Amino acid sequence: MSGYPRPTQLTLHVEREAVDGRCGGCGGSGLERYPVLSEGGWFTVVKCPRCLASAARERWSRLGPIELLADTL
Ligand SMILES: [Zn+2]
Repeated sequence: MSGYPRPTQLTLHVEREAVDGRCGGCGGSGLERYPVLSEGGWFTVVKCPRCLASAARERWSRLGPIELLADTL
């Protein structure tokens, strides 16, 4: 059993999610997806945990984790 605790306050803690894939930089397998806040708003990125090469990047919700949690309930 697993679940997300309900967010009661905004924190900088984010969950890193393991995703399948092969890094185009170092060739290793196993990538991580996690949200990042940039000047353009929230993005989710898929990066190699070893060499930090970006495999994917896509726009996320403007409010980041709070809105995502609501959307996935
Ligand atoms: Zn890599």
